[in-house]
Amino acid sequence: MNAWPSWLDGLRTQFNQRIEQDRMPHALLLGGAAGLGKRALLEWLVARLLCQLPEGEQACGTCHGCRLRRAGTHPDLVRVSREVNREGRQRTEIVVDQVRILRAQVTLSSQFGGWRITVLDPADRLNMAAANALLKTLEEPGGNTLLALVADQPWRLPPTLRSRCQAVNFALPDPQQALAWLQKQGIPDCATALAAAQGNPGRALALVGDGALARRDQVRRDLIALLCHEADVLETVGQWKQDEPQERLRFAAEWLAEQTCALAKGETGPLRIKRDIWTWSGLFEQANQAREALRGPLRPDLVLMDFLSLRVSTMEVRSVRVNRR
Ligand SMILES: [Zn+2]
Repeated sequence: MNAWPSWLDGLRTQFNQRIEQDRMPHALLLGGAAGLGKRALLEWLVARLLCQLPEGEQACGTCHGCRLRRAGTHPDLVRVSREVNREGRQRTEIVVDQVRILRAQVTLSSQFGGWRITVLDPADRLNMAAANALLKTLEEPGGNTLLALVADQPWRLPPTLRSRCQAVNFALPDPQQALAWLQKQGIPDCATALAAAQGNPGRALALVGDGALARRDQVRRDLIALLCHEADVLETVGQWKQDEPQERLRFAAEWLAEQTCALAKGETGPLRIKRDIWTWSGLFEQANQAREALRGPLRPDLVLMDFLSLRVSTMEVRSVRVNRR
């Protein structure tokens, strides 16, 4: 996120007061969907705590502490993330050895006599052994130490670990604030982008940035054309396969969910075709199944072919629902 998320101004002020009144917790869990500003707040907090001459809420940017932090060499700041393994691939988890090394570092005292900060990101990727090892660190916090966990999916952390941290939950900001922020970034059609991102401003920015918003609308038009038999399935499969198939399936699922909700409220919905609610919810389910299947060993064109045929009879859907009960 390039610009400061203005909807976090209040939270930043609260944290600043806590720092000034010496009421900072030893462990924080910053949790919530990507795009809501968790990491921006964290970086502000790290900068503010490590600065030796803060100016109000802001780090000065020029003192020794600030210079070391900006160079990435501050001895009192440790960052733990997923490492690259021997085969050169990024590990899917944060492993116990990383936490052991961390514990050794945390028990040292601060080199500058100020704060010692450890950042674990993404904390929802700690494996069980690593989470247990981390719990031990939390049992023996020293003065002026901060352990900051950042997680897009905080519920994935073990409850024992979560309960030891003070949770900061990042929710969707007020739409007006989100729109004002997007406008400042020079986004042309903010309202459309924000709606496409379901109210998440950071995600809206990302959608516009890599042309995903245009792809999302293309997916909607493809679904309509296929359902009206005005497009060729094979041709559409070819286009989807070449360009972000996983993302296109997610967009399809989102449109179908929106369509299902609209119909339930008696509205026309974004796909503007008459089908019953079972058809839309059945197609929604199939889009999600296709997303899963695409991660597996099946050929992508076959998975896409299966979904884009958009065959769902009311009877089939009903029988699936009955069987699952
Ligand atoms: Zn400074």
